[in-house]
Amino acid sequence: MTDLSSPKALRRLIDESGHAFAVIEEAVGALRARIRDIDPHDPDVIEVLRAHLLAIGSPSDVMKYFSLELLERADPARAIATYVEVVELLARSPIHPERGYPVERAMIRLLADKKVTGALPALAVLAGREVYPLSRTAARAVAAIVGSTEKDAITDRLRRADLPEATRPDALSDGVSRALWPQKRTSAQSSQERRRKITRENAASMPPDASSACLRPESSKKRQARLRAILLGAGRDAARCGNCDLAGPTRIGHVVPVGRGGSDRPGNLVALCAACLRLLPRRRREGFDAGRRRAAKGEAPQMNLF
Ligand SMILES: [Zn+2]
Repeated sequence: MTDLSSPKALRRLIDESGHAFAVIEEAVGALRARIRDIDPHDPDVIEVLRAHLLAIGSPSDVMKYFSLELLERADPARAIATYVEVVELLARSPIHPERGYPVERAMIRLLADKKVTGALPALAVLAGREVYPLSRTAARAVAAIVGSTEKDAITDRLRRADLPEATRPDALSDGVSRALWPQKRTSAQSSQERRRKITRENAASMPPDASSACLRPESSKKRQARLRAILLGAGRDAARCGNCDLAGPTRIGHVVPVGRGGSDRPGNLVALCAACLRLLPRRRREGFDAGRRRAAKGEAPQMNLF
């Protein structure tokens, strides 16, 4: 029987599961069932709510409004910081247009209302990915924070010294302009334009190549969280080692290293236990032919990858 008796136990459960969507949702459901008894300011409650909001692309988004409201009431500053993290995650993750991302868009609108400048670079990257309606919401948020829809004003704002995490402001503001532009002409949109948009939407489920150049480097912890979300979003198990099948803490590794052109697509990611992770560099040197062939085809690296 799972112990759901305290927020501390719930938080531990989430950590042990490798932030599996189902476990996070079960934990939030348990909090919700005892909403009168829990202290929303309890750091463990806050971490459970944050884990829920950071599980981008989880299948049942509706429940997230509960976490969003509770976190905002308990700790508004932490809520805003979490929304910035969510936008950064989205900017660097595969986007699935069919999901719509209603809660994430609500978070983006809140960032726009509060004019959170720290979110600008990630919002601009997201706008430039041109996956609607998420990108348009991000572009509108950039315009609201900057106070202008002028490309030059946006570039200027992104270039300011107080936003050191933004590089290539021109590329970022171009993306914002492109995302803002189609809304003016939706009625006159030609079928050719619609077709182009669909092609772009297919491309959007791939991670953006430019984001790493446009955003500040990620901490290792954030990177792990993002890669884990990508793996879970593809329906893969991150709570077991993808090589030896051991259940327990895992870290997410790349089959083909990023430095050699490996991507963050699910097919190139594998959850590994500590022992198998230590083997990774040697195995890579020896050649990862089977894994690389599978990764090249966009398939999941299989068991006994080594
Ligand atoms: Zn292992």
